[in-house]
Amino acid sequence: MNAFEYIAPTTKEQAVSLLGNQWGESEILAGGTDLLSLMKDYLTTPKRVVNIKAIKEFQGIKYTSSAGLRLGALVTLDELLGNATVKKEYPALAQAAEGVTSPQIRNTGTVGGELCQRSRCWYFRSGLGYFPKDESGKDLVVNGQNEYHAILGNSGPAYFVHPSSLAPALIALDAKIRIFGSSGWRDVSAEQFFATPKNDGDRETVLKPNEILGEIIVPPAKGIRNATYEVRQKESLDWPLAAAAVALKMNGKTIQSARVVLGHVAPVPWRAQDAEKALTGKAVSESLAAEAGSAAVNGAKPLSQNGYKVQLARVAAKRALLQAAQGGA
Ligand SMILES: Cc1cc2nc3c(=O)[nH]c(=O)nc-3n(C[C@H](O)[C@H](O)[C@H](O)COP(=O)(O)OP(=O)(O)OC[C@H]3O[C@@H](n4cnc5c(N)ncnc54)[C@H](O)[C@@H]3O)c2cc1C
Repeated sequence: MNAFEYIAPTTKEQAVSLLGNQWGESEILAGGTDLLSLMKDYLTTPKRVVNIKAIKEFQGIKYTSSAGLRLGALVTLDELLGNATVKKEYPALAQAAEGVTSPQIRNTGTVGGELCQRSRCWYFRSGLGYFPKDESGKDLVVNGQNEYHAILGNSGPAYFVHPSSLAPALIALDAKIRIFGSSGWRDVSAEQFFATPKNDGDRETVLKPNEILGEIIVPPAKGIRNATYEVRQKESLDWPLAAAAVALKMNGKTIQSARVVLGHVAPVPWRAQDAEKALTGKAVSESLAAEAGSAAVNGAKPLSQNGYKVQLARVAAKRALLQAAQGGA
């Protein structure tokens, strides 16, 4: 690891003033479960590391029935999972956090860091960036090992999948991300927070290099039934192969409106609007769930080795939907 300057400010204003204007000049450190591996592998070589853990304003979980849920960026996955209100009102979030099966990661990893973690694409993690090419200029993902890559939103040049488990649930629940920068706070919807990199050096969110994800606001979930369903190859130390989060606004047995979001299938969490349309105004049934699952993967274009992910995403959407309909906040 290269030498770097380490600073641990106690206010958000100090923290922002210490961040550089270009990506990579400085990096924000929260739990460090991703950042330290990125630094050890020379995937980022910041001159300055700004530890935000001592900033009290970015800590804590608060819930009121009128304002909903406020998660400070520094809330750990374990704190999220241990919160009774989150479990009761926002099962989609608790189930997503539960999927991160390593207690060590859940104890240390923060929700802000989880949303800003970098992709697990093996070309990226090997130092080849998000647009890896061979000597002749051929794309290494399209022509190489792509079994874990994107099946949606993959018209290029990026083919990796976004690694966050919480993001689909937050988008389904219509959460807002609050970002702090030198001009103060700005808010973006969780859906708008993620962006597909187009050029070398681009990141995966709309954050600027000198901005911090400060907090997340999730609207009150009263009457919104919600769930996350993940498909994993193994139950520990790995990311899902596909996942879906669903939030349903019900009118008796009829779905008034639905939000369906797939995870781990595209460079950004993927809003499945065809599935949402297929559900609106209908009563939940096994056959409707299967129809919506199929609609969720409309437009999927698997690469040479990842066709199996289409079926996994279809089933994840179907099961998340049935789970949401049965449970409910
Ligand atoms: C074996 C293993 C299995 C895992 N499985 C899963 C899984 O199934 N699902 C899943 O979603 N994740 C999984 N993870 C990833 C884990 O959830 C993240 O590493 C963790 O949540 C990151 O949080 P952190 O606080 O440690 O972030 P850090 O490592 O401190 O930071 C991660 C990145 O986010 C940036 N950052 C951190 N906080 C902020 C902020 N507030 N504002 C702006 N930028 C910020 C950092 O600069 C860095 O680039 C797994 C990790 C491991 C090692």
